[in-house]
Amino acid sequence: MVKFAGRMSRLGTESAFEVLARAKALEAQGKKMIHLEIGEPDFDTPDNIREAAIKAIREGWTHYGPSQGLPELRKTVAEVCGRDKGLTISPDEVVITPGGKPIMFFAILALVDDGDEVIYPNPGFPIYESVIEFVGGKAVPIKLDMKKEFCFDVDELARLVTPKTKMIVINSPQNPTGGVLCREDFEAIAKLAIKHDLWVLTDEIYSKILYEGEHFSIATLPGMRERTIILDGFTKTYAMTGWRVGYGIMPAEVAKAMTQLQINANSCTCTFNQVAGIEGLRGDQTAAQNMVKEFRRRRDVIVDGLNTIPGFKCLKPKGAFYVFPNIEGTGMASRPLADLLMNEAGVVGLAGTAFGRYGEGFLRFSYANSVENIQKALEQIKQTLAKVKK
Ligand code: PMP
Repeated sequence: MVKFAGRMSRLGTESAFEVLARAKALEAQGKKMIHLEIGEPDFDTPDNIREAAIKAIREGWTHYGPSQGLPELRKTVAEVCGRDKGLTISPDEVVITPGGKPIMFFAILALVDDGDEVIYPNPGFPIYESVIEFVGGKAVPIKLDMKKEFCFDVDELARLVTPKTKMIVINSPQNPTGGVLCREDFEAIAKLAIKHDLWVLTDEIYSKILYEGEHFSIATLPGMRERTIILDGFTKTYAMTGWRVGYGIMPAEVAKAMTQLQINANSCTCTFNQVAGIEGLRGDQTAAQNMVKEFRRRRDVIVDGLNTIPGFKCLKPKGAFYVFPNIEGTGMASRPLADLLMNEAGVVGLAGTAFGRYGEGFLRFSYANSVENIQKALEQIKQTLAKVKK
């Protein structure tokens, strides 16, 4: 048996990938499955971006690039994201990484010391908790409550801050709930961060997949830029999950540390994909906007459908492409219900507990699938539950 380093016992995972593998195994046995588990747009990457990558390969953008990212892409991120988020950004405050995830990993690795506490949303993206614990920090969950439309309870947040708190992680629009923080939440979080001298890691990967209102970045609030790390990227906005290009916006000193981590971990981000990223941000946005329109249509179908299933209660998410129905009325816990739906209904979703302990009583479905498949899935869930009741 391999004797792994102690820290490996503290490393978590993202169970969407494990559930996907189980569903694929069932498919290999001839079972038909409807996939609502993985957080990935079902659209193709827009043509202009694909063409830009092919052209970049032909032009020879196939060598190592600067570890912080291609200067032209960093300049583009600074300009375009600066405009979109309402910030003045300098290219030396931008780091390009293979997907948005490394920003999370590197930010926590660079700033969280042994025993430091990090407050993170729960239910939430499971990698926050995993990485905080992995680096020797203490992961302190803050419960996102359906009664509060999955927003923060600001008083509870204040109670969770201790002299050891180093960072608060926020994610809006949120995975898995689709919740969006309101202006008052951002202001209260900023006030606490400034008062207690905390870092804020704001995961804005779904900033462009928003159905109501305008995206708001906490970094725009006075006194926040110097203590905020923004995570964003191409993955969700331009259906580029497999390309692995993302970026972070942060104070230049932190960008330097992150670049050093990148030199140690992966040298640089794929060069021709970065050239394609410039086209993504500067080129025609119609395809990206149409995806959001289509997601909205599917959201309405899945929310209305779930609310007709006995025992299910589902809010209408304001962003991202997930629904997070409460399923307590079925009398079943999250994991057995998710398993039942996979094995009997042929519908693959995730147990709410895949997103932390406060996810008990919920399921997560991604509606990055066709309306036809969503309707079929709803019907199959209904039929399976009706059979179980008998
Ligand atoms: N943050 C959140 C909240 C996510 O849901 C995801 C992807 N599922 C990521 C970050 C990671 O994005 P990427 O694929 O660009 O690394």
